[in-house]
Amino acid sequence: MVKRADSIQLRSDFSLLIGGELEQNAAHLDVINPAFGQVFARCPAADRAQLDRAVQSARRAFVAWRKTSYSERAQLIKRMSQLLRDNQAALAELLTREQGKPLAQSVAEIDRGAAQSDGMVGIEIPVEVLVEDKERHIELRYRPLGVVGIITPWNAPVNLALGPLVSALYTGNTVVLKPSPYTPLTTLKLGELIKDVFPAGVVNVLAGGDQLGQWMTEHPKIDKISFTGSVATGKKVLASAAGTLKRVTLELGGNDPAIIMDDVDPKAIAKKIFFASFVNSGQVCMAIKRIYAHEQIYDALCDALVVEAKKAKVGDGLDPSTELGPIQNKMQYDKVVDIIKDTKKSGARFLTGGEIPNGPGYFLTPTLVTDISDDSRLVQEEQFGPIVPILKFSDLEDAIRRANDTRYGLSGSVWTNDVKRGAEIAARLEVGTAWVNQHRATSAFVPFGGAKESGLGRQYSSLGLKSYMEPEVISVAK
Ligand code: NAD
Repeated sequence: MVKRADSIQLRSDFSLLIGGELEQNAAHLDVINPAFGQVFARCPAADRAQLDRAVQSARRAFVAWRKTSYSERAQLIKRMSQLLRDNQAALAELLTREQGKPLAQSVAEIDRGAAQSDGMVGIEIPVEVLVEDKERHIELRYRPLGVVGIITPWNAPVNLALGPLVSALYTGNTVVLKPSPYTPLTTLKLGELIKDVFPAGVVNVLAGGDQLGQWMTEHPKIDKISFTGSVATGKKVLASAAGTLKRVTLELGGNDPAIIMDDVDPKAIAKKIFFASFVNSGQVCMAIKRIYAHEQIYDALCDALVVEAKKAKVGDGLDPSTELGPIQNKMQYDKVVDIIKDTKKSGARFLTGGEIPNGPGYFLTPTLVTDISDDSRLVQEEQFGPIVPILKFSDLEDAIRRANDTRYGLSGSVWTNDVKRGAEIAARLEVGTAWVNQHRATSAFVPFGGAKESGLGRQYSSLGLKSYMEPEVISVAK
């Protein structure tokens, strides 16, 4: 485990970006490094007047920005991606300090964000001609909505900001972006980096608490909210956005099942299953959160996963040997500890982990649990931490029923050597994305989002981009 940092120099070189200017405010957020449980930085927190000014400047900037071409906007977005790559080392270190994930994964998050951004701006949104005959010409066009408010969570702050940011900008909207109060720093640095890339007011970045998010959802001059976060907050966002009939995209929580069939070699897939469950210490919306394994390979799979869990090194993300960092914040740590305690009380069997260390830092070791009932908290809730149940099945129909027996519907996977059958089973999962022999594979060209209570709408691909636009029919009588 990690030793307490002896002396901490508080970093405070952070600013809000409003109307092309960097700003401070007397109100501030203290940001904790979860590897030590100590405040290491402080940044300004925006007040209501600053939000109003940011929205006003975004509205003003929209007038000219909407008239620019896709290719002009693509050029500027690519400049932003290049700046991310040029500043990757410093950004990744900051991301690890505020979020906790291993440095290599912070580097990968920035790489991926830049690559996805470049990918998205290659997508074309053509005018669609619906009818062309002697009497009529009818076409479907898409125009930008206006000002988009983007609200992000703390588990992958760079990636989850860039997806909506690029979608909004490329389609001709202007933006007010608010990161989570737990991880505002890398996003504020992104704002600083792109200050002179985009015309003043096109991108505004405001750190702040939950209240700032609520003000954004209520704001009469914001046209759309792109929200990524928990189901509970997503519902509040939807209710609040109804007041002004804002468009919304909601990317919410998941409780992803993985169905492991009897024809796989457990040793061959264990590493992939482990990584898809425990990467970022399980703090991934589309992590595997329930493993359903066929009884014939059940014991062998448990053994192989235990080997992986015992190998994984938990520690400070800045230590190059670390594979799993801490839980990002105390609130989430307490929630996962509560689930561990509840699981222990239920009499379930712990194959690994389950210890609750004394700290410092919010560390938990990878925990695998068997002999647990389907109605336990661990199976029913989104644990969002390094504890995963392995459940046994003998009948495929029963496995599919149990996998679908949830209000979540983000994604899921099927693991089998028979890929045709795998795809058929995958198609029966009630999710936004069902993978076969993989999990967490996403791309700029493929829509991503949740079924049921895991979300509303899709991000990425032309489908995602069009959700940042208003469809408009032009109908001409010849
Ligand atoms: P959260 O819902 O607590 O907070 C997310 C953001 O919403 C933060 O910026 C917060 O300040 C803001 N917020 C809080 N209350 C608000 C309100 N009333 N109105 C407007 N904004 C408000 O979520 P979290 O704990 O930061 O993130 C973890 C959750 O995010 C998990 O459930 C995870 O599965 C989900 N998530 C989903 C995806 C996806 O793509 N589907 C991706 C990553 C994370």
